[in-house]
Amino acid sequence: MQALARMHTAGKITLSRPILWQNEAKNITLLNKNLFSTSEPMRLIATLLLASLSLSMAARRDFTHFWQDKDGIIKAQTELSLELVNDIIDQEKPSVEPPSKARMAALYLLDQMLHDTRLDGSPLIADFLDGRMQRVIADFEVPLQEGMKIYKLYNDGWIVRTPSVAIGWDIYRGGKVKEADRSLMSDSIARALVDRCDILFLTHNHGDHVDPFVVECFLEQGKPVVAPDEIMPGDARILHTRRPEIWQESFKAANGAQLKATVVPGHQDHLQNNIYILTLPEGYTVSSSGDQWLREDQDLMLNLQVKTPPVDVFMPICWAADLPGFCKSVGAKVVLTGHENELGHHSIDHREAYWLSYNKLEDFPIPNSLMTWGESFFYK
Ligand SMILES: [Zn+2]
Ligand SMILES: [Zn+2]
Repeated sequence: MQALARMHTAGKITLSRPILWQNEAKNITLLNKNLFSTSEPMRLIATLLLASLSLSMAARRDFTHFWQDKDGIIKAQTELSLELVNDIIDQEKPSVEPPSKARMAALYLLDQMLHDTRLDGSPLIADFLDGRMQRVIADFEVPLQEGMKIYKLYNDGWIVRTPSVAIGWDIYRGGKVKEADRSLMSDSIARALVDRCDILFLTHNHGDHVDPFVVECFLEQGKPVVAPDEIMPGDARILHTRRPEIWQESFKAANGAQLKATVVPGHQDHLQNNIYILTLPEGYTVSSSGDQWLREDQDLMLNLQVKTPPVDVFMPICWAADLPGFCKSVGAKVVLTGHENELGHHSIDHREAYWLSYNKLEDFPIPNSLMTWGESFFYK
């Protein structure tokens, strides 16, 4: 301790790690010598002292190590924080019950990191996302006997799974990782997700919803890709569908499962935005809003009641205009918001934070759950 104090006052900037280590080693040797000449209780106390010394040494070592290393400290802090987030949310799973403070804190912590532009394109965030997606892939190994599972992927990407079918929605890998030839979600992970799906639905022609690599993976495997006319218009392999009024249609997934669809012809500004309301073979009805956003559509969106079948689970964008009104209009029994923390939105005010969604979902009229990447919600 004395040696350390001396070094602190002597000049912290020039302090080098090897010197610190040497002094620490001396301290341990001293303690060890004394250890063997003492009685049993003393030995115990000495052992405890030694343990606490090692702990404080570890902390001190890290602390010292980051002086003048701004990138290093952010990197270490991010790595440890992401680990902590995983630890918490792997325990505190999504549910319609009010979230625990620990779960909320974990999502707030994610907000802090995902709104820190120093971490844009960071391999740490990319690895975290891949790790979250690995959980989805692993969960597919567990047979689903009943009910419906909804997995939240990145941005507004979803997989809806029942015993008979798995449906992909706007699956997207995210932007590029700095100084690496990869996307936020790696290609192999994205492909593994596609492997587990039987059909893909695309809502509208924006880059954070339509990922050419993902679309190609579906098509290569002979799995249908359903989209409004504006998405890859020249590509005959896409099942284009769009009408001026709400319409009914059925789609056959690659595994033969029949899906009954009622489609609402929405928009995001000038773009077509198809809202597919899908009834699955087990009778569950599910829908994702895509980026529905047009003032002129609002009357239709808030009065869907008799025109469309009631939805069991609805995945609206978190920034939907009149979120409760929209969810009531589709007859949602459970609401799972999407599109939080899209990192491609360079202006961080449009990287909708989880804390914002928590705020919107407080006193919400419909049961709901806020999820992050790679989490699933079970509905029965
Ligand atoms: Zn979007
Ligand atoms: Zn969009």
